[in-house]
Amino acid sequence: MKISVVGSGPAGIYSSLELAKRGHKVILIEKEDRLGGTCVLYGCIPSKAMLNPIHLLAEMEKIGKKDIKISMEELRKLGQESSFRISKGIEYMLEDSGVEVIHGTASLRSGMLNVNNESIQTDYIVLATGTYRERIKGIIYSEDLPYLNKDFNSVILVGGDVGGIEFGWMLRKLGKEVILIDKQSTLLPYLDKDVSNAITTYFEKIGIKLYLNRTVKEMKENEVILDNGERLTADIVYMTFGRKPSISGFEEVKHDPFIIVDEYLRTSVSNIFAAGDVIGTHTAHEAMYAGKIAAMNILGYKKKFNKNGIPKVIYIHPTIAYVGKMEGNCIKYNLASLPRAVTEKETDGFLKICVKDDKIVGAQAFMKDAEEVISLISLLIRLNIKVGDIKDFVAPHPSYIEVITELLDKV
Ligand SMILES: Cc1cc2nc3c(=O)[nH]c(=O)nc-3n(C[C@H](O)[C@H](O)[C@H](O)COP(=O)(O)OP(=O)(O)OC[C@H]3O[C@@H](n4cnc5c(N)ncnc54)[C@H](O)[C@@H]3O)c2cc1C
Repeated sequence: MKISVVGSGPAGIYSSLELAKRGHKVILIEKEDRLGGTCVLYGCIPSKAMLNPIHLLAEMEKIGKKDIKISMEELRKLGQESSFRISKGIEYMLEDSGVEVIHGTASLRSGMLNVNNESIQTDYIVLATGTYRERIKGIIYSEDLPYLNKDFNSVILVGGDVGGIEFGWMLRKLGKEVILIDKQSTLLPYLDKDVSNAITTYFEKIGIKLYLNRTVKEMKENEVILDNGERLTADIVYMTFGRKPSISGFEEVKHDPFIIVDEYLRTSVSNIFAAGDVIGTHTAHEAMYAGKIAAMNILGYKKKFNKNGIPKVIYIHPTIAYVGKMEGNCIKYNLASLPRAVTEKETDGFLKICVKDDKIVGAQAFMKDAEEVISLISLLIRLNIKVGDIKDFVAPHPSYIEVITELLDKV
């Protein structure tokens, strides 16, 4: 079979590789010069490379070393290096797998795929076009930071969700004056109250000026006007949310505003599947998984896209991670006496687990290594494992994973 995949982000790459490894001819179409999509070029990869030294600083602070400095320029360099390296790696990997890459903007004209004004005959199409940004002149966006050639000492962050939390924390730890505006009354209000309150208090404690319950009326290069008329000024105004699904050229496929798919990721057009943020996922790992599922269903495997129990992480220190639903019997464990936390002075963290019908249904953590702990719980949720069946699990000592065994002993 010949399959065309549009978009070289996580969804498109994983789709292409899955199809190619099963011996099919794959054409991957990407409009940008570099491969990797939002995640590799502007998102996950450069941002995590920039956040990593701040995590190290936070750990050094715990043992009283507060005088180590790192500049924005050094962070940008780390971000760019990792982005370029991973993008190149993707290029080689696709070449190795026999995937043909075409650079150009794809569109659909009466069911026919078009690239650079030429039609491509194809049996199936995977739309993995992700999201795009509608820009306001003078405003800086999350994805700009790794490439921003501008010095600033103060910043207004608009939006207190994942981007606002990660960048707000990073910039404050770098010594910038940070104002964070959000229309909700606490940060991350959709998370458990314990996590939401803890992060709100933590941000206030580190000196981030929170303007909660406020709506932005107008944004300019150095100024934000709130709906109550209040004017806030800073060196830059930085917007951390608001990307939209990239449908342009594919309007023939049903969408609202994301492309509508069934549980097998088939769109309203029978030979077109869609995967990743264009169908409403919000993380790279969900996009990769969706890309694989779309590929397997093109090949007739009939695999459902199972959204249950996929972990989410906010990469600050302590880290926030969460999975599933907080319902049933929920128990909280504070790390005050967890041996590993004591050795590393990380005792303010906590994990909360919810159990229903003898199964873990959700968990949220605000602690060091939260992503590892929550990933393990994600596995238990996705494999539908009963609490009774994991009582024999033995965690290494001393480790943060032990928090799970400590908690389950109480269930
Ligand atoms: C600042 C930031 C930080 C992030 N951090 C994380 C993180 O730490 N962890 C995480 O899991 N997620 C993170 N994300 C989210 C993550 O980047 C996305 O969930 C992920 O990239 C979605 O993958 P995708 O393949 O669906 O789309 P994308 O990565 O957006 O890729 C879509 C690709 O399609 C191309 N394209 C679009 N239209 C066309 C067309 N018509 N023709 C040809 N090509 C086209 C685009 O150029 C793009 O390369 C972050 C996002 C941002 C903005």
